[in-house]
Amino acid sequence: MRIGFIGLGNMGGPMVRNLAEAGHEVVAFDIAAERLAALDGIANVQAASAINQTTAGAAIVITMLPASVHVESVYIDNDLLGSIDTSTLVIDCSTIAPATSRRVAAAARDRGIDMLDAPVSGGTGGAEAGTLTFMVGGSEASLERARPILEVMGSNIFHAGDAGAGQTAKICNNMLLAAQMTATAEALALGVAQGLDPAVLSSIMQSSSGGNWPLNVYNPWPGVMEGVPASRGYEGGFFVDLMIKDLELALAAANESGTPTAMGSLARNLYRTHQATNNAGGLDFSSIQRLIAPHAGE
Ligand code: NAD
Repeated sequence: MRIGFIGLGNMGGPMVRNLAEAGHEVVAFDIAAERLAALDGIANVQAASAINQTTAGAAIVITMLPASVHVESVYIDNDLLGSIDTSTLVIDCSTIAPATSRRVAAAARDRGIDMLDAPVSGGTGGAEAGTLTFMVGGSEASLERARPILEVMGSNIFHAGDAGAGQTAKICNNMLLAAQMTATAEALALGVAQGLDPAVLSSIMQSSSGGNWPLNVYNPWPGVMEGVPASRGYEGGFFVDLMIKDLELALAAANESGTPTAMGSLARNLYRTHQATNNAGGLDFSSIQRLIAPHAGE
């Protein structure tokens, strides 16, 4: 299948590799020349010199861009939709505001083009391994068209509802994750300050009613768990900057629907404080442990 792919960053790059490895013919574009050059020499990948080249003859066009402003600018302001045939299915995998997703999908629909929002969870490791979770918004028929392609890049595919619903699911999940991570970091800090071994406390809480995903697979206390960002100086993983972006999207949606999200607001404030006072934007989000216990693991 011929696939146009726009946005070859930390996530998009490995997603393109998996599509090409599965035998699809990918025409790829990024405004950053080094991102395009990184795909040089990979079989089945052709670098586009202009964004419109990705859409010509494509059965599917996929975008993996940083934020709402980029998605709106590519599809609407720069009228990529104008170069897309009505037989092409458009899939936006970026994490953006649900309202923006609905707006872009409506603009596509006005031109007779089917579009899905399909943000992902699973991080760069999931993108490389082809084990992402896709949370899809749009029609069921479009999802069935997309499924064989999504299955190349991911292992869990959920239909969340109509246009924008995939984005809503994604920001609900990340708001919950941020609250769980900060609460876990706080509980570990308290236990250690009271003389407990963080590994022993982690095992106890994992098997007790406080057990949660960070404790099970992403412990924020340095040295408790091998192979996680906390045990390599919080390098790699999911950046604080991106978590703040997702929390801001969640709070904007909460504002729109009048939903009280006290825990989400608190998590956003803690992450913003951590970003500003510890210059932590480029660290993994489990580094929130350092805001609560600055000498954790020392
Ligand atoms: P990234 O910044 O590494 O990549 C984005 C790419 O888009 C960059 O290469 C950039 O040059 C390119 N780009 C920007 N504007 C463009 C334009 N107008 N035309 C073409 N290319 C353009 O970001 P990423 O980590 O790959 O994340 C992409 C999306 O996935 C974000 O919305 C992010 O929130 C989401 N996401 C990221 C992760 C993660 O762990 N990194 C996990 C889940 C979801």
